[in-house]
Amino acid sequence: MQILKDRINKDGKILEGNVLKVNGFLNHQIDIDLLNDMGKEWKKRFDGVEINKILTIEASGIGIACIAAQYFDVPVVFAKKSKSTNISDNVYTASVESFTHNTVSQIMVDKEFLSKDDKVLIIDDFLANGCALEGLTKIVEEAGGEVAGIGIAIEKDFQPGGKKIRDKGYRLESLAIVKSMDPKTNSCQFK
Ligand code: 5GP
Repeated sequence: MQILKDRINKDGKILEGNVLKVNGFLNHQIDIDLLNDMGKEWKKRFDGVEINKILTIEASGIGIACIAAQYFDVPVVFAKKSKSTNISDNVYTASVESFTHNTVSQIMVDKEFLSKDDKVLIIDDFLANGCALEGLTKIVEEAGGEVAGIGIAIEKDFQPGGKKIRDKGYRLESLAIVKSMDPKTNSCQFK
């Protein structure tokens, strides 16, 4: 998706450690026009695929998923990263290693909101090593639902997640696939 690639090159900041910082439009300040275009693009790419729910993970996935959900006309469920009093004990869980925080969290989704009848589109901002997606797909499958597709805003192709997820047979649609990025010149090459 050219406008996302252009925006990454214009406003993204490449940090050491293979981290692309996109706080100006995706992860801190959010460009709603861009998110609308992303939502429309996923809707086009998943045209004809039966989807009745979108699943994402807090925090950055939520905004992206909610805007996209308007084009699919389905509810959004987000996996929580910590237990609070307003979540029941009746949850699906998975361990997810965080790429950006270097911590492992137990993500959870209340069993009330996922079932065997669900055909789920998973949406997230980044795909790096694939840990977040492994956790989310595990949760959908544990609920007996079907992963109808996966939509990622920015996939880093030089990290193993994309291959891992495609090799498992999931339909993965990444809107910008970064082939390489150089912190010295602050530039990204795309697929
Ligand atoms: P994975 O689980 O695939 O290793 O990493 C995906 C998760 O880590 C995403 O949910 C995202 O929040 C975060 N992440 C991974 N790589 C990057 C990156 O380069 N930049 C930012 N901002 N977040 C990233």
